Amino acid sequence: MTESNDPLTNMQQALQAAEGKLERIVEAFDHLDCGVFLYDADDRLVFCNARAREIYQGISDLLVPGMDYETLLREFYRRDLYLEREFSEDEWVAERIQRHSRTEPSEYEVKMRSGRWFLVSDRKTADGGIIGFRFDITARKEAEFALAESEQRLRSLLNMSADWYWEQDASCRFTHISSGMMRATGIAPEQRYGKARWEIPYLGITAERMEAHRRHVEARQPFRDFEYAYAPPGGDITWVCVSGEPIFDASGTFIGYRGVGTNITGKKRIESQVRALAEIDFLTGLPNRMLLGARFEFATRQATRNNDGIALLFVDLDRFKVINDSLGHQVGDRILVESAARLLSATRSTDTVARLGGDEFVILLPGATAENDIANLADTLVHAMSQPHDIDGHELTITSSIGIAVWPTDGGDLAALLKHADVAMFHAKSIGRNQYSFFRQEMNERVNEHLAIETALRRAIDRNELSLVYQPIFSIPDKQVIGAEALLRWHSEALGEISPTRFISIAEDSGLIMPIGEWVIKEACAQLARWRAHGLAHFPITVNVSGVQWKTPRLLDCLQAALVANDLTPADIELELTETALVGDRDGTQNLLERVGEAGFRLVIDDFGTGYSNLTRLKPFFVTKLKIDQSFIRDSTTDIDDAAIVRGIIGLARSLGLRVVAEGVEYPAQLDFLLSVGCSEAQGFLLAKPLSAAAFKERY
Ligand code: C2E
Ligand code: MG
Ligand code: MG
Repeated sequence: MTESNDPLTNMQQALQAAEGKLERIVEAFDHLDCGVFLYDADDRLVFCNARAREIYQGISDLLVPGMDYETLLREFYRRDLYLEREFSEDEWVAERIQRHSRTEPSEYEVKMRSGRWFLVSDRKTADGGIIGFRFDITARKEAEFALAESEQRLRSLLNMSADWYWEQDASCRFTHISSGMMRATGIAPEQRYGKARWEIPYLGITAERMEAHRRHVEARQPFRDFEYAYAPPGGDITWVCVSGEPIFDASGTFIGYRGVGTNITGKKRIESQVRALAEIDFLTGLPNRMLLGARFEFATRQATRNNDGIALLFVDLDRFKVINDSLGHQVGDRILVESAARLLSATRSTDTVARLGGDEFVILLPGATAENDIANLADTLVHAMSQPHDIDGHELTITSSIGIAVWPTDGGDLAALLKHADVAMFHAKSIGRNQYSFFRQEMNERVNEHLAIETALRRAIDRNELSLVYQPIFSIPDKQVIGAEALLRWHSEALGEISPTRFISIAEDSGLIMPIGEWVIKEACAQLARWRAHGLAHFPITVNVSGVQWKTPRLLDCLQAALVANDLTPADIELELTETALVGDRDGTQNLLERVGEAGFRLVIDDFGTGYSNLTRLKPFFVTKLKIDQSFIRDSTTDIDDAAIVRGIIGLARSLGLRVVAEGVEYPAQLDFLLSVGCSEAQGFLLAKPLSAAAFKERY
C-alpha cells in the first residue's frame, strides 16, 4: 500500500488496513477449536467466534454484538442448556457477574445439554472487559470417568477378596481404612489413623520380622501376604494378612502405600490344628515319627546335661499282618488302639510312646541307663501286650516282640537307634516272639539273612520254587502205610535249599504263610487225587497247618475249595497243628478248630508233649490223633523220664479215645519200645524218609 498526501485518504487507508487486519483476526478466531467471547466493560457482547456460536447453539439467536451478558445468562438458564448445574438461576447470575471483580481467571467445568463437557475460562481484559474461552474437554472427562469407574470396580473386587482397603501417606501412616476392617476384626479404622503399622502393638511375629517389613516398606517395595496378629484389649487374638504396594504420583514421587487386609484368624486356627495332627498318629492319638524325632532331640539334650542314657524300645505286634488281612482293618485298628493304651498305661508320663505306622510302636525312656530296669519294663510290656483282646465277644491274642537299643552306645542318632532296636526286635521274633531282646552287634548278620529269605520267599510261589515231599506213616504192627505227611521243600534260586524249620517262621512273621499254606493244601490234595486216579493211596493225606493259618476263616474256605477241585471228602485230609500253636492261642483258633472239625476234617496235634496243653480243653471230637514229638522218641530207649512221658501220652490218648503216632523213629529199638507201650503208628527215617511224589508212587 502506497501513502498519499491527503491526511483523510491516509486515515481511510489506515482504517481500511486495520479493518482488514481485524477481519482476518476474526476470521482466524473462527477457525479456532475453542469458543471465544469478548465482552466490554459494561458486559455487553462485542464478539464471539463461530465455535462459540456452535457451542451455544441454543441461544445463537441472541449472540449478537451489544447483547447484555445477564440477559444471555438468564435465557441460557431458561432454555435449560446446562445438563448439570449446581446453582439456582439467581446464584448463577450473581456468581457469573462476580467475574469482573476477580483478578484471577475464573475457571469451571460444565456439561451441556448436548452431552459435551467444556472448560469455561473467563479473564479480564486490559480495558475492563472480559474475554472468555470455552474448551471442549469431553475426551478428557470421559477418560477420567472411565478411570474412576474402573477404580471403583477394582475396589469392589478388592472388597470381595479382602476384608478391607487401606491407604497410607508418604511417611507410611494410615490415612484411610475402609469400614470393612471394623466388620472383619472389630477394630475401628480411626484408631489406626496417623500411625505406621509397626507403631501399633502387634503379636504373632518376632520384632526382627516386623523390622524387616519396615525396611522393605521404606525401600518402597510392594509386599504380599504379610501375616501378624493383634490382641485388642479384652478381645481375642486377631490374625491379619496384609498386602500393599507403593503409590507414586505422575512425577514419580513416592506419596504413600495402598493395600488390602484380611482377617485370617480362622485359617491360622486350622493351620495349627493341622500342625498338631501332623505330629499325632490319627488312629491311636500317639505321637508319630515327627514328634518322636522332636522328643528324642529334647531327650538327648537333657541326657547330655545329666550324663544319662536313653532307651529306645521297638515294639512290633507278632503276625499282625495276618489278622489285619484276614479279619479286616476294623479289627486290626481296634487292636492297635488297644495296644497303644496298654503301652501308655505301662509307662511313665515322662516316657514317649509313639506309633511309627503299621503295627510298629516306639517307646522312648529318657534317663534309662540300668539294663535291669529296662528289662523289667520290657517284661511288663510283653506281658501286658499278650493279654487277649476282646473282639466282639471273641478273645484274640496277639503277642508282641520288643527290640531295645540304648543311646548313645547303640547309636548316636534316632535313625541308627531305630535301626538297631528294629534288628533286636527281629531277633526277638526269630527266637520265638512274645519276648524282648537287647541289641547286640552280632544280630545284624542274622537279620540280613532273615531279610534275604523273606525277599526270596516273596517270589517263591510264582517262580515254582516250592515243592512237596511225602513221608509215609506206618501202622507199627503190620508195617503197612496208612498215611502220608506232606512236607514243604523250597529250592530258592538265589539262596539254594532252605529248610522249612528256617523259612516257615519267616513266612509266618511276614504273612507269607497264608499264600504258601494255601498252596500246600491245594498241591497235597491234587497229589492225593492223582494217586487215587492210579488206584493208589487209600489213606488220608496229612498237611501241616501253621498256627497263623488257624487264626483266619480263610483256612476253611481253602480246604473246601481243594476238596471240590479234587473230588475228595473231608475224611481224606488230616490237618496237623503244633501243640504250641494251640497253647499260644485260646481264642479264634479254638473256634476255627471246632468249625473245621465239625466240617469232618481230622485233626492231629503235632509235636505233642512240647506245649503243655490242657487236653481236657480239647473237645475229643475235633482232635483225632496226637503225634508224639521226636525229642521224646529220640531218647525213649535210654532216658527213663522220656520213656515215662511217652507212656503217659499214650495212656492219656487212650482215655480220651485218641490215636497216637510217634515221629522221628530212627532205630528198631525205638519201634520195639513203641509197640510195647501200645503205640500203633509211627513215622521216621527208619521206616521211610520223606520222598518225592514220584518216588512215593513207585514204592507204595
Ligand atoms: P513236622 O511237621 O514235625 O515234620 C516232621 C519233621 O521231621 C520233618 O522235617 C521231617 O523231615 C523230619 N523227620 C521225619 N522223620 C525223621 C526222623 O526219623 N529223624 C529226624 N531227625 N527227622 C525226621 P522237615 O520236613 O524239615 O519239616 C520241619 C518242620 O517244618 C515240620 O515239622 C513242620 O513243622 C514244618 N513244615 C514242613 N512242611 C510244612 C508245611 O507244609 N506247612 C507248615 N505250616 N509247616 C511245615
Ligand atoms: Mg507235621
Ligand atoms: Mg512234628
